[in-house]
Amino acid sequence: MSAGGEFVGVKILFFLIAMLACAGLEVVAQPIRVASLSTVMADLVRDIGAERVEVIEIVKPGTDPHIFEPSPGDYKTIANSRLLLASGLGFEGYLDKLRPVLEKSGVRLVVGGDVVEPIEGACEGHEHSEDHHHHGTADPHWWQSVSNVQLVARQIGNALIAIDPAGRVTYEKNAAALEARLEDLGKWVRLQIVQLPKKNRVLVTSHDALGYFAKEYGFEILPVQGISTSDQPSSQKVRDLIGRIRERGVKAIFAESIENPKVLGQITAETCAKPGGVIYADGLGSGDAGTYGGMMRHNVTTIVEALK
Ligand SMILES: [Zn+2]
Repeated sequence: MSAGGEFVGVKILFFLIAMLACAGLEVVAQPIRVASLSTVMADLVRDIGAERVEVIEIVKPGTDPHIFEPSPGDYKTIANSRLLLASGLGFEGYLDKLRPVLEKSGVRLVVGGDVVEPIEGACEGHEHSEDHHHHGTADPHWWQSVSNVQLVARQIGNALIAIDPAGRVTYEKNAAALEARLEDLGKWVRLQIVQLPKKNRVLVTSHDALGYFAKEYGFEILPVQGISTSDQPSSQKVRDLIGRIRERGVKAIFAESIENPKVLGQITAETCAKPGGVIYADGLGSGDAGTYGGMMRHNVTTIVEALK
């Protein structure tokens, strides 16, 4: 192309820019990059941030977050973000290793577990495996209670406003709409659970992930494994559990979407409990369970149908 042609090209470009400006189109700023270690928090930040954020899910739906370890590529992605979302309460065993990276790169960290009231795991003295799968005693699965998620949604909204004050009006409007949806969701959950006779409100699950759900909605919990999917039950523990399931006449036990212990089959074979369906314990899934509201609706419907 000749120099003259380039000049014409540049002139056309300026003309186009001027036209766009006259049409009153706002020049869109770069979206805020948010990296997320939590599928639930990724959904919340997408709702609140909308077009002002670009969300990168380091931990993707359907992966076992208990055994996830970030790759060097993930470290790079996180360092290039403005905000990192984590569940906390020991869920991400590698979080302390990440902190210096965040400080150095000026990445803001929001830990959901920091704003909820932690509860302890239901099963005491469970054996931990040797390595990084280890959890503290606090139960990290706070998103199984809708009111916890309301607290974390507020925390995420505040972080976005701090990072991007120009977006305040958008963030406040979207956060208020999300708050209203979560309020409705919490009411809906309670309306479903009142259909269950009190004596049927016992949850046998693969691992101890529904403690917050049980506390908020009034269930007793009998987990096969400890607080992590990598805590294996002893044969004595399995025998005790089978005894308790028979004694209580538990109607159904629930498998999880990601990982299940082999003894689940043994338990249904030796008790009257039937497989009650699949629940999402460790985060979001796909399809209907691809949003927080959808996941909760799926879990609650599955639980109520099987225990009714
Ligand atoms: Zn878990």
